[in-house]
Amino acid sequence: MVQIKDRYRLYIGGEWVAPSTRQYFPTYDPSTEETLAEVAKAGPRDIDKAVRAARRALPAWAGMKGAARARVLFAIARILQERAREFAILETLDNGKPIRESRDIDIPLAAAHFFYYAGWTDKLEYALREPGHKPAPVGVCGQIIPWNFPLLMAAWKLAPALACGNTVVLKPAETSPLTCLLLVEVLEEAGVPPGVVNILTGAGETGAALVAHEGVDKIAFTGSTEVGKAIQAKIAGTGKRLTLELGGKGAHLVFEDAALDQAVEGIVRGIFFNQGQVCCAGSRLLVEESIENTLLELLKRRLSTLRIGAPLDKNTDLGAIHSKEQMTRVRSYLESGQDEGAVLWQAFFEAPKKGFWCPPCLFSKVTPSMKIAREEIFGPVLTIQTFRTPQEAIALANNSNYGLSAGVWTDKGSKIFALSKQLRAGVVWANTFNQFDPASPFGGYKESGFGREGGLHGLLPYLARR
Ligand code: ADP
Repeated sequence: MVQIKDRYRLYIGGEWVAPSTRQYFPTYDPSTEETLAEVAKAGPRDIDKAVRAARRALPAWAGMKGAARARVLFAIARILQERAREFAILETLDNGKPIRESRDIDIPLAAAHFFYYAGWTDKLEYALREPGHKPAPVGVCGQIIPWNFPLLMAAWKLAPALACGNTVVLKPAETSPLTCLLLVEVLEEAGVPPGVVNILTGAGETGAALVAHEGVDKIAFTGSTEVGKAIQAKIAGTGKRLTLELGGKGAHLVFEDAALDQAVEGIVRGIFFNQGQVCCAGSRLLVEESIENTLLELLKRRLSTLRIGAPLDKNTDLGAIHSKEQMTRVRSYLESGQDEGAVLWQAFFEAPKKGFWCPPCLFSKVTPSMKIAREEIFGPVLTIQTFRTPQEAIALANNSNYGLSAGVWTDKGSKIFALSKQLRAGVVWANTFNQFDPASPFGGYKESGFGREGGLHGLLPYLARR
């Protein structure tokens, strides 16, 4: 069983140190509202200390032979696999997501990212050499991650950074820091030298101070578009590098020639995975008009069979909403959708007294101008609009400030190719949704951000030319 300490300090230079702020804050289990542990709040002095530790560790780590760094990354992957069960339980406790997802998706994928980038470590010089230049690390990277996939987002950021020889100061989200803190044990056992990865807990202020620190060469941020824009404004002109992975409002197109039963499963995975708290969720369903009623009925029937409840129960399909704040936000969209004239359907669900819960929700009679069709809800809420022609579907899909993901369901391969070329989204899934692979680049257009994570493309933001 997983051991949770009462209190966690900051991890700087290979040691656990008390925060200069002397402040700690609680992290909760969103399904019970019980405190799991207290974590330290890092202040500017701690950030300075961590950035210096990362700078000191840089020459030796960057100078290591690729094959030697690969051994360390492979070891991280292997230990993560060995301890997957413990990580899955801790992730589910701290985040509220169903254990089935943390066990079968989040933790295995986190390990897979380390395996994948370990494989690149000794090949960079050959694969990415340009005439007169040798690939080199960028330097000290500040990495800021969100609460929806805590360990997986840490892996997405750490694995390519470390593979390229960078050192890191990582800031987990304030409401789900525990798996990143447990990761320290894995890093140490795998032989990551002190100072190569530093982990600082704290909220937005801590993140902002990390962004502002002069000793940071690159910021990699995953989170809201609002904060991403603020970060971009703040570092403009400083010469720091930046990659942003921000919000989304993924369009999910279903044509009348699609295999509808499979499409229903894809739609469910697209929007109800992790209670819809996924930046690439397929939150806008666009259905060919001729099958709207049939699909709606099939969806309602399927959603009525989903099990909502205790995240640690392996039969649970939807766990808890991550926080009170998130619950308030989802509720405000449920109200706004109805106020603007959309029709809400919710699966029957009796919420427990404690914790934050929301059953699967469908909005029909949605028009493109409604807030629920334009803004990212980040909850188990699907909006449904109809189209008559592929052109109309593309126009509706691309009519968004975001451009992270999209999906197409059709029986015709030619239609898939034609449509996916026109969809302005970083990832387009065909006859599936929310499938991830470390070899495949992920990232957005427009207000969904820039830069790619995963695959060869995911290495480039962490490499400089020397
Ligand atoms: P979310 O909607 O996922 O909570 P946020 O953008 O608020 O999105 O948070 C994502 C991460 O960014 C978290 O680790 C959070 O603490 C951090 N963060 C919040 N505000 C700032 C800021 N002004 N500068 C840097 N990081 C921030």
